Amino acid sequence: MNPFRYKNGVLHADGVSLADLATEIGTPFYCYSESAISAQYRAYVDAFADQDAVVCYAMKANDNLAILRTFAELGAGADVVSGGELQRALAAGIPPSKIIFSGVGKTEDELALALSTGIMQINVESFAEMEALSRAAVAKGVTAEIAIRINPNVDAKTHDKISTGRKQDKFGIDIELAADAYRKAAELPGLDAAAVAVHIGSQLTSLDPFRAAFSRVAELVGELRAAGHDIRRVDLGGGLGIDYDGAAPPTPAAYAAVIKETVGHLGCRVLLEPGRNLVGNAGILVSRVIYTKDGDDRDFVIVDAAMNDLIRPALYDAYHGIRPVAEPAGGANLQRVDVVGPVCETGDTFTRARDLPPLSAGDLLIFDSAGAYCAVMASTYNARPHVPEILVKEGQFSIVRARQTIEDMLRAENFADWQTAVN
Ligand SMILES: *Cc1c(COP(=O)(O)O)cnc(C)c1O
Repeated sequence: MNPFRYKNGVLHADGVSLADLATEIGTPFYCYSESAISAQYRAYVDAFADQDAVVCYAMKANDNLAILRTFAELGAGADVVSGGELQRALAAGIPPSKIIFSGVGKTEDELALALSTGIMQINVESFAEMEALSRAAVAKGVTAEIAIRINPNVDAKTHDKISTGRKQDKFGIDIELAADAYRKAAELPGLDAAAVAVHIGSQLTSLDPFRAAFSRVAELVGELRAAGHDIRRVDLGGGLGIDYDGAAPPTPAAYAAVIKETVGHLGCRVLLEPGRNLVGNAGILVSRVIYTKDGDDRDFVIVDAAMNDLIRPALYDAYHGIRPVAEPAGGANLQRVDVVGPVCETGDTFTRARDLPPLSAGDLLIFDSAGAYCAVMASTYNARPHVPEILVKEGQFSIVRARQTIEDMLRAENFADWQTAVN
């Protein structure tokens, strides 16, 4: 479902006029549709209705508290990658029994926090971490249920910076060492190796790499069981892509079919960690044109959002659809423009040579597919405050993160003790 549609010539978000919202809140701002998130979550629930599967939302995609609350109310679990994320998930009411803790560099404090909150599973990514977790569990007198994250050496055929399942990537334990890793886990006190985990990358648009990785997982589970390990769960990570540019990725149903085909016979509970696929197309960034500048070589549209608000084009050469909030007249001539932000970096370019309907100063536009890996990656570079986040649902809206103020930014800092005050 695309909740961002034109109505009476104005783009609306689930029934709320974005022009009205912009007047009330100012620009830029993120806007998320709760209905779209629920619909996508339900698509997973339906797709996996005949499998014992738990959806643990990979909250690094979008960790706004109201988004997490949406998932908690839907009954989802969470995949967290830091102590901070764990605390946010708990604050949003996601039950510890549905929380997975992933990541290559969990600190002792983070492991202790995970153990004291009693989460479902800690995904261990190295022998050193396994030892640290064993020590922490013994110190607390508890047993930690773990998965060992395996690096299956499968190329996810996605952007280099978001590939995680190749030998040269920092994630997981090489599949060749998996037998040793499980043997070691069985020897160490305080650990119960209940699961095998993989996560091969993000924004995958083909099912083939999933099929290859999950088949390796299934084979490994067979070997581990033969060696006496009690493997009850497989954690298959996330990574299913979304439509950014008109090329539709596989549906949750097609993804579920691959999972059934590859690991269905194991009798394991299946843990899923989708992030982007659940929220990516449920959000947009709304911005206003400050100036247009027609150059000799190219024409620029300068907007009030920038790379500090939405870094994906600069970081991954990512494509985001751009649409004006005022519906363009049918047959309007397109103009070839670069859309750029005000930050003093050439990288602060959202798109080059894109054919867009005519845009002038004061016009509102949106960046589509901005629900995942956008607001969470924002910074205050160039002393630009964090922008607000709005949640909409069937004609209602709520400000779920207020616009940061310059005062907020200044309050967090101080002069050094030996410096003089400014009067
Ligand atoms: C990032 C991540 C995910 C989610 O990836 P998406 O592409 O957003 O689905 C899932 N699991 C782990 C371990 C991750 O690091």
